[in-house]
Amino acid sequence: MTTTVHILQEQLRHLRMTETANELPVLLRNAETMSWTYQEFMQEILLFEMKRREEKNVEKRLKLAKFPYHKTLDEFNIEEQESLSKRQINQLRELNWLEQQYNIILLGPPGAGKTHIGIGLGIEAISKGYKVSFSSMGELVHLLKTEEYIRKSQMQLKRIKESDLVIIDDLMYLAMDQREANLFFHLINHLYERSSIISTSNKGPEEWVELMGDQGITTAILDRLLHRVEVIQLNENDSYRLKHRFTIFEKESVQT
Ligand code: ADP
Ligand code: MG
Repeated sequence: MTTTVHILQEQLRHLRMTETANELPVLLRNAETMSWTYQEFMQEILLFEMKRREEKNVEKRLKLAKFPYHKTLDEFNIEEQESLSKRQINQLRELNWLEQQYNIILLGPPGAGKTHIGIGLGIEAISKGYKVSFSSMGELVHLLKTEEYIRKSQMQLKRIKESDLVIIDDLMYLAMDQREANLFFHLINHLYERSSIISTSNKGPEEWVELMGDQGITTAILDRLLHRVEVIQLNENDSYRLKHRFTIFEKESVQT
């Protein structure tokens, strides 16, 4: 029996059903103890392989997304953020906007939860089978500037361009020169109507013009980002980081 199982495992591996191969002894034992019919056994085997493949795909897509940290929407405490309702979060979670290639802009001061919501939506999208990529504006500009001569940048940009959802964190955080603005415009233009973009920023679109310098390019970028967009403004005075900061002082002595 042992040798037969071993041979079966080899054959499964040959058919690239590695997960089932590893699990085979358990599956066979279950089949015996639960008296599965041939049909049930076949179904269990196939379901197991499919489930594991999907789990591995999710793991792979999560890794490729390059999130700076892993936090889900369930970990987002909605009571702390008055400007967003549970209903709105749930609507966002349904991902109809992604299906319809809408963009989302999350605005608000540092610590308001913009990045967390972006990552949470990204994780949600990955679990539903979408390809997602996350990068800060700074990283993105670096990739664009080095695309021609650094192969890694080229690969990462390829991945970003193929994503269904592109998350750009801290959009317009830094001033850009003409060349950078141009490169950024070409990327946005490529993504336009192909993917959804979630961007976060602590500055409103009216301030972006200043940072880009070139009015023409800024207008062209804004045109594409704002064409089909849901702008979510998070509250000024709901900085989670500030409220939940660690302090080096005794609790009693902290004046708030
Ligand atoms: P920013 O708006 O600056 O991008 P982040 O999303 O990075 O802020 O939030 C800062 C930290 O506070 C993160 O660790 C995030 O998970 C946490 N945080 C912010 N808002 C909430 C919230 N409403 N519930 C739970 N954690 C939150
Ligand atoms: Mg952030």
